[in-house]
Amino acid sequence: MSPSLSRATVPSQPKMPLRHDWSMGEVTAFLDEPLNNLLFAAQTTHRRHFEPNRIQVSTLLSIKTGACPEDCGYCSQSAKHETGLEPERLLPLSEVLDAARAAREEGATRFCMGAAWRNPTDKNLEQVIAMISGVKALGMETCVTLGMLEQDQARRLREAGLDYYNHNLDTSPEFYGQVISTRTYQDRLRTLDYVREVGLKTCSGGILGMGESRRDRASMLCQLANLPAHPESVPINLLVQVEGTPLFGTEALDPFELVRTIAVARILMPASYVRLSAGRANMSDELQALCFAAGANSVFYGDRLLTTDNADALRDQQLFARLGLQPEEAELEGRDQPGGCHRSIDRPLRQRPTTSDQAARA
Ligand code: SF4
Repeated sequence: MSPSLSRATVPSQPKMPLRHDWSMGEVTAFLDEPLNNLLFAAQTTHRRHFEPNRIQVSTLLSIKTGACPEDCGYCSQSAKHETGLEPERLLPLSEVLDAARAAREEGATRFCMGAAWRNPTDKNLEQVIAMISGVKALGMETCVTLGMLEQDQARRLREAGLDYYNHNLDTSPEFYGQVISTRTYQDRLRTLDYVREVGLKTCSGGILGMGESRRDRASMLCQLANLPAHPESVPINLLVQVEGTPLFGTEALDPFELVRTIAVARILMPASYVRLSAGRANMSDELQALCFAAGANSVFYGDRLLTTDNADALRDQQLFARLGLQPEEAELEGRDQPGGCHRSIDRPLRQRPTTSDQAARA
């Protein structure tokens, strides 16, 4: 940016204080704003806390796929839904480390592993801890998403060197029962408490387009923003409809609702990374650009997200170039800042080799 344009468009105001007492009235009022007002406020907030043209890029390896006993209505991995998905056992350590090495060779500094469990058993945890240790030994940061945790399990993961834990709230407390019956909202909040209390960084967000109302989206954002600490990373997913899941056939969400939700997440949690997550494969470049303007500053990179398609890696490279977005560089890794499951790269993104094209968990 030219110095004059930079002066004209980059506010020099101090960072916003972080609040944890947002009311539903405030949040619904934000969501109801004319879109231009909302975009302006979100972009102004974003520029106080982040480089406006930097984007953080995340990778995620599914280490155990399918046969999950939970009944999340959006998920192809639930054993309760007939989606035709072939379950896979926990990957062997060597395979995980090969994938981590391949990711590192592409420039990844952080590696996230997801398992379709209700909760890990102690044996599961030992196996994952070996993976964490192995990935850490490669010089990479680690992130895992394993379902619900007990506090002692969270502590053991922390002691093993884990950096980030992903656990989404998914939706509002009011709408939650229409999506999931096998675990409660309180279960989710408790796992997030344990993770935070032992000093792990948290990655938590939700899914839009499941038939929820705008008020539900406001309520979910309120829950996230009023946690004792904002999640360092807030993934905002757009439902990917999978045939055989209960939510298949749900009326598509107005894409501007996605943009609005991202903008309000940015305003409520100004220092968190807001990740435009699942659903990008079906989004136009223009919609994604609007989401970035609304304050999204992180994406998943790679052709698969768990069991569904992600935006094509080459398309991402071209889109970033067209928008003038730069992936975050390695030197930012030293900052004590959020970014669950993220990887930062110090050279241009490359298309992932198909051998490391693993399913990823949103
Ligand atoms: S979202 Fe996670 S917990 Fe829910 S069914 Fe899918 S894998 Fe299981």
